[in-house]
Amino acid sequence: MFRGLLIENSDAGYGTKLTELEDSQLPEGDVTVRVAYSTLNYKDALAITGKSPVVRRFPMVPGIDLVGAVESSRHANFAVGDLVLLNGWGVGEVHWGGLAERARLRGDWLIPVPQGFTPRQTMAIGTAGYTAMLALIALERNGVTPDKGDVLVTGAGGGVGGIAIALLHQRGYTVVASTGRLAETDYLKSLGADEVVDRALFSSPGKPLGRERWAGAIDSVGSHTLANVCATVRYGGTVAACGLAQGMDFPATVAPFILRGVTLAGIDSVYRPVPDRLEAWRRLASDLDTQKLDLLTHEIGLTDVIATAPTMLEGAIRGRLVVAVDPSVTG
Ligand code: NDP
Repeated sequence: MFRGLLIENSDAGYGTKLTELEDSQLPEGDVTVRVAYSTLNYKDALAITGKSPVVRRFPMVPGIDLVGAVESSRHANFAVGDLVLLNGWGVGEVHWGGLAERARLRGDWLIPVPQGFTPRQTMAIGTAGYTAMLALIALERNGVTPDKGDVLVTGAGGGVGGIAIALLHQRGYTVVASTGRLAETDYLKSLGADEVVDRALFSSPGKPLGRERWAGAIDSVGSHTLANVCATVRYGGTVAACGLAQGMDFPATVAPFILRGVTLAGIDSVYRPVPDRLEAWRRLASDLDTQKLDLLTHEIGLTDVIATAPTMLEGAIRGRLVVAVDPSVTG
């Protein structure tokens, strides 16, 4: 038996509970992992609360991220005791995830815990941080270098936003952070923001084009915010779009793309091929200041997750939430 969160959807309604599960209930997979840490991501909060149809198979153990030790393996790349990391691949959506003491997974989804990070740090980064890195790589590939001008980060108080700020700062960019929580200005500056602006500047319907302001942007908010950001990117700039905290809609015009050559780079972390993941984690190991990571990380236990999920959807969590599932697993 092991403890885990379980989401059920039946005639009695949609609900999540912390419960005892049996090994025989675990899904198919060639590697069984004892989970040390997981995380609470925005997507997990949607799944746990049922606010969006994230979960597509029931019952489901949520948790799109996990780190832990291999307990048994039939996969050539992994042996008992190896420390492994998982982000995405539909885990926590269609395959049981990390918010439980055990997970059975496909070895093809796993990567070794990257050198330079403790298991806990990999979860402090989690899908949010790995996505922020993918977004930064997208800006770089499109020629957004620090000398080109300011880079805007929206949803700055959240997980993707916070790590994006720290990464951009470390690479020498001038970073403007957009937040609905101006009271967090000192925190955002401590992460590396050079300027902090009110997200209200972007959140309402705007014009097709505005003053050219940003060399690039990392947006985790979507909706009017993404449209207004695109409308104010400088000629030839790039926006990396990775989230929908304001909404999934994109009420924009083509003007920024056809008149200013703006690139909208879509970022998906879930089904990203392994070589891209390894590159992103290598870059995180070289570019992320772990002191800044500590600043934006909070830890909760498995027993706190259900109560915390609605707070995350209200946009009231600062930075990243690590879930200590069973830290003794990785020592
Ligand atoms: P968080 O909840 O940690 O952060 C989201 C932030 O967005 C909030 O902290 C808040 O920042 C801002 N925000 C919330 N509500 C609104 C609103 N109504 N209007 C404008 N801003 C708002 O989530 P994450 O950082 O973990 O994830 C952010 C988004 O990115 C989510 O939509 C998530 O699903 C997506 N995502 C996508 C991935 C991918 O593969 N594409 C991977 C990871 C995440 P503030 O208070 O500073 O304004």
